[in-house]
Amino acid sequence: MYDVIIVGARCAGAATALLLARRGYRVLLVDKAAFPSDTISGHLILHPGTRKLAEWGVLDKVLATGCPPINVVAQEFGDFMLSGEVRTEDGVPACVGPRRTVLDKLLVDEAIAAGATLREGFTLTELLSDGECVAGIRGHTHNGAVVTEGARIVVGADGKHSKVAQLVGATSYREVGSLTCWYITY
Ligand SMILES: Cc1cc2nc3c(=O)[nH]c(=O)nc-3n(C[C@H](O)[C@H](O)[C@H](O)COP(=O)(O)OP(=O)(O)OC[C@H]3O[C@@H](n4cnc5c(N)ncnc54)[C@H](O)[C@@H]3O)c2cc1C
Repeated sequence: MYDVIIVGARCAGAATALLLARRGYRVLLVDKAAFPSDTISGHLILHPGTRKLAEWGVLDKVLATGCPPINVVAQEFGDFMLSGEVRTEDGVPACVGPRRTVLDKLLVDEAIAAGATLREGFTLTELLSDGECVAGIRGHTHNGAVVTEGARIVVGADGKHSKVAQLVGATSYREVGSLTCWYITY
């Protein structure tokens, strides 16, 4: 029995797990992926994000991977370019741009170091109920074994098209259709 089960172990889930585990809660973090694991991203973490990473003691570890602090930003708008230096008063870099293989793995490792249990290769399929509230999860490992775990609270950090949101029938309250598209390459 856990205090909290968090479904999804990337930047939302792993960060939540590390904060709760540091406060002494028994946390189970599950994800169908195994870390390090890549996912599509523009990689840019803006200042509120770098400040959080610094607060949690993770920023130095991100920088130590060779990911440089970014304090000069340029944006091209076809005919013209805007560029400038972004100064921060707290001394924390304006931005960093780690690959998700780096960022998510660091956050997962911090959560484990804080006492959270990680179960990778686990796909959530059902939520358990005590008749009134969500009381746990059921899912399967990558080789098909069915696993059930109980908790006082289940957190859905399983991203877009969240299975947890779907299972509890959560309604969408702020939806915007696609306004643009990106091409990402290395
Ligand atoms: C093209 C693109 C570019 C982006 N660029 C940036 C950027 O530059 N900067 C920025 O800050 N943000 C960017 N974002 C947004 C950012 O990627 C998301 O906000 C962020 O990934 C959300 O993190 P999350 O932890 O909530 O969910 P996710 O990163 O989506 O992680 C969800 C996790 O849940 C797991 N999961 C899902 N279903 C289940 C299940 N049933 N059982 C078990 N596990 C499950 C998945 O395996 C996954 O690991 C970008 C997004 C896109 C699409």
